[in-house]
Amino acid sequence: MVSAVYHNYEGFGNVTTFSDALHNFSKVSDLNYVEKLWASYYYWMNNDLFATGLFFFLMHEIMYFGRCLPWAIIDRIPYFNKYKIQETKVPSNKEQWECLKSVLISHFLVEAFPIWFFHPLCEKIGISFSAPFPPWWKIAFHLALFFVAEDAWHYWFHRGLHHGVFYKYIHKQHHRYAAPFGLAAEYAHPVEVALLGMGTVGIPIVWCYFTRDLHLFTISVWICLRLFQAVDAHSGYEFPWSLHHFLPFWAGADHHDEHHHFFIGSYASSFRWWDFFLDTEAGPKGKASREQRMKKKAEKKVQ
Ligand SMILES: [Zn+2]
Ligand SMILES: [Zn+2]
Repeated sequence: MVSAVYHNYEGFGNVTTFSDALHNFSKVSDLNYVEKLWASYYYWMNNDLFATGLFFFLMHEIMYFGRCLPWAIIDRIPYFNKYKIQETKVPSNKEQWECLKSVLISHFLVEAFPIWFFHPLCEKIGISFSAPFPPWWKIAFHLALFFVAEDAWHYWFHRGLHHGVFYKYIHKQHHRYAAPFGLAAEYAHPVEVALLGMGTVGIPIVWCYFTRDLHLFTISVWICLRLFQAVDAHSGYEFPWSLHHFLPFWAGADHHDEHHHFFIGSYASSFRWWDFFLDTEAGPKGKASREQRMKKKAEKKVQ
């Protein structure tokens, strides 16, 4: 069985190592370097289902913990304390260690299993994994679309998780840390992981089911960006150079920290518009901006 990642293996020599595979693809002129790496990986693995499963599992582990590590280091450097949003609440080593254990158990017992069914699903609904990749503008369009759609999904389901039994039996676990830290991003009940994870993985699947136009590379970039967004939102740090100062509708840590602190409001993941327009911004800052808006509205009416 030869991988379906490329259409023409004419002139390819024997492959036992990854560098053999890369050497073969280096002779192919219509692929860029990232596409060559991608194709070499699949060709070398010689089992597309296993290759996709392993790639997504490792990518998740490396990107998640890789992104958490700088935050864990920053927590140990007193200089950065002045940028901490809830500055009196630095997570203890014990808290971080317990969180790490729980997240690892969830990754290996809950998420590792369905990942192996991802490749057959991709084949069924037409998510392509072959090289070359789609043009960059299409990748950018799909990424923007997933960001906006996931944010809406997250807003409504997260808001729903704050009601009665849903909170008591599911979402309460994620709210264990009133002052979050990077690692706490995926510290959640398995039902919550599945439900909110549907916004990340389910939306691209549904998109491709209807359009038949999506590449696995786009999904992998999307998952990395979404992981970065989730870890950063839980970092607990607000810097003068944080993204939301330049992109006012970007949520960032400032937005999600308020959610953990005040518990009610600021439910969205990546953007601020849902909470802004539906008047659900959390904490005193949210209350002040709501009052400001109501005042302006009332003054307009009088005029
Ligand atoms: Zn919540
Ligand atoms: Zn959170």
